[in-house]
Amino acid sequence: MGLQDIKDRVTKAEAEAGRAPGSVTLIAVSKVQPLERVEAVLDAGQRIFGENKVQEAAGKWPDFMERYSGVELHLIGPLQSNKTRAAVELFDAIHSVDRLKLARRIADHAQELGRSPDIFIQVNTGEEPQKAGILPTETDAFVAECRALDLPVRGLMCIPPVDETPSLHFALLAKIAARNGLEGLSMGMSGDFEQAIALGATHVRVGSAIFGERDYG
Ligand SMILES: *Cc1c(COP(=O)(O)O)cnc(C)c1O
Repeated sequence: MGLQDIKDRVTKAEAEAGRAPGSVTLIAVSKVQPLERVEAVLDAGQRIFGENKVQEAAGKWPDFMERYSGVELHLIGPLQSNKTRAAVELFDAIHSVDRLKLARRIADHAQELGRSPDIFIQVNTGEEPQKAGILPTETDAFVAECRALDLPVRGLMCIPPVDETPSLHFALLAKIAARNGLEGLSMGMSGDFEQAIALGATHVRVGSAIFGERDYG
């Protein structure tokens, strides 16, 4: 089980970047993992988890939440508009807000339910046509629109293109966040979370390095 190793590496990366201990939140990405592995990580004390799909999360987390107190769930995958209500009910944060229609729905359901998840706006820093996220040039306007809806916008999120140097994308995301007065930076995964921390990540999303490889078979 890699949890302690990853926590140690996060602590070391914080120190090397001259950042305060505990300034980076480790999100353990449990999508697709067998329940025993998730349970082992819960038993080891981890309480902050990331999931990609509303349905998958709704299938396993209510049970775990009855047995373990203080669980915090982050939605890190694309959100379809018709699953927004369930997402607002289940998640403490949504990292994939990237269009106005979705932002409006989240705001409506948040009002109706009297609670809102923390909002991270996903930016398509690599401007990849197949990838979710708002374009860098459209991000400032979109942040303003989300704020006008009274959504608690905490920061930005990105997933760099697989074949490019991630630090360039992390630096770009940090720059866009800074000019918008946003403190949250959701960036960095198993292969690059230390680089992300060096460039200001406040939330790293680490899956396989904690749980082992995902078996999609
Ligand atoms: C799956 C996933 C992760 C975790 O990826 P690993 O490489 O297993 O750490 C992080 N962020 C997002 C958006 C993901 O979909």
